[in-house]
Amino acid sequence: MISGWTDPVPQDQVDPARINKEWLAYHESGHAVACYFLLIKFDCVSIEPGPSYLAGVLGMKPADGDREKRDRMLALYAGRAVEKYRTGGKWDHTGAGPDLEQAHRIACDLCNGEGSRASALEGQMEKAATRFVEEHRSEIESLAPVLEREKCLPWRKVKDAIRAARKVGPEK
Ligand SMILES: [Zn+2]
Repeated sequence: MISGWTDPVPQDQVDPARINKEWLAYHESGHAVACYFLLIKFDCVSIEPGPSYLAGVLGMKPADGDREKRDRMLALYAGRAVEKYRTGGKWDHTGAGPDLEQAHRIACDLCNGEGSRASALEGQMEKAATRFVEEHRSEIESLAPVLEREKCLPWRKVKDAIRAARKVGPEK
């Protein structure tokens, strides 16, 4: 299994051809832009379905240490935070469920299984993701159409799209 995370094909919508690629591109762009700014390196972000997933951010190293684990929670919540602002508060169907489950597992790990502390941390990181997405809308808005068109973007192209949004030009 490639490390990183993937968004599995939703149970109620198993035909990947029927999935709305635009939403998916925005959702994954939320993850990717968060990873970029949190310095979570990955190989590529993809909206092409794999054997058991619909889309995902692939090829990242496992999180090590508390700070990295918290950053990863933020990046996991960022997909849903993007869907929230794009849909004006309604969740999309493309399934942030697996993201929330992964964030929950990290929270339990960070809080040594203490449920109430873990839920507090989940709430805190979800709020942080919402703020992050608000602050980085322009980068997300410029990355998503590129991802929708190209289907799979390596780290370097993600970086170029983000730099273009910030008007600093591609890296030499
Ligand atoms: Zn996701």
